[in-house]
Order: sequence, then C-alpha cells, then structure tokens
Amino acid sequence: MLLDLNLAKSRSGIDVHKNLEFQIPSDVIDDLGFKTQSPCNISISYQYNSDFVLVKGQGSVYLTGNCFRCGDEVKLLHTFKFEEKFLPANDKDINNCYDQYFYKGNVIDITKMIIDNLLTSLPHQVLCKEDCKGLCPQCFANLNFQTCECKKQINNAFASLIDINYD
Ligand SMILES: [Zn+2]
Ligand SMILES: [Zn+2]
Repeated sequence: MLLDLNLAKSRSGIDVHKNLEFQIPSDVIDDLGFKTQSPCNISISYQYNSDFVLVKGQGSVYLTGNCFRCGDEVKLLHTFKFEEKFLPANDKDINNCYDQYFYKGNVIDITKMIIDNLLTSLPHQVLCKEDCKGLCPQCFANLNFQTCECKKQINNAFASLIDINYD
C-alpha cells in the first residue's frame, strides 16, 4: 500500500487526505484468533515536512473472533487509530533499524505500519455479550442457552456434606 509523496511535497506542511481499502493478509491475524470479514477501510492524512513525513488516520475492519468464555463466533467492527513518523532513508538506516518507519524517494509504503497498528490494537479477549455465562466446566454445556445438572449435583453434594457435619 503506497502513498505518493509528490503531491505532499508540493504542499509541504499541509495535510493530504486519502481513503484506501486494504485487504489484510489472513495469516497476519489468524494466529490471534481473528478472521477478516471485509477489507480494512483506511482514512489517512499525511504531511510532508523537511525532516519527516507524518502519517495519521484511522482504520476500520469487520472481524470475527471467538467468545473467550463460550467459544461462540463473535462479529465485531474493529477500529484503530494511528500516527507515525516516516524518516527519509538510506539503505543503511533500513537494515539497522526495526522500530522506525522509513520512506524512499517519492513513495511511502504504509503496509507494515498499518499491520503493526492493527495488531497492537486488537482486543485480547472478545465476549459474545457482556454477561456471557460461558460453558459448564464439567459437561461443556453452553450455559447461555441451556442449564445442566452439574451445578445441582455439586450443590447437593455440598449440602449432604453439611448434613454429615451437623449429624
Ligand atoms: Zn460467550
Ligand atoms: Zn454441566
């Protein structure tokens, strides 16, 4: 995903706006338990200064993940913001510096920056609903939709234990 710097250079210090659509490679977020359901819409503004290019904006993408408690599929619209500086590069800089973004000539490749910001903004856990009851740890029944006998049995066992103590 490339940004053309020619326009920004001719309007130094002034924001250039652009809307982009980015297809997130599936293997990027698979490991984190998410799947993309749409391209990522990116609204971006970038500004050329003599020392660096400032790139900022917002991305949004429809994702599916699995509820942390019950495992059901959850759809979510994930939005994230970013603001990063890109420095003009020579080859030496690029090879020795992993925590800085660079541009070369009149184009900026923002792909890695967008993916970095997406990954760090993803939620650690998703829930199908705030009060999801999860699964029964014994029989794995989804307690949002059904009740099981396990808890009753535990309660009964506990009650009889108390009975024994008091007998
Ligand atoms: Zn759930
Ligand atoms: Zn159960």
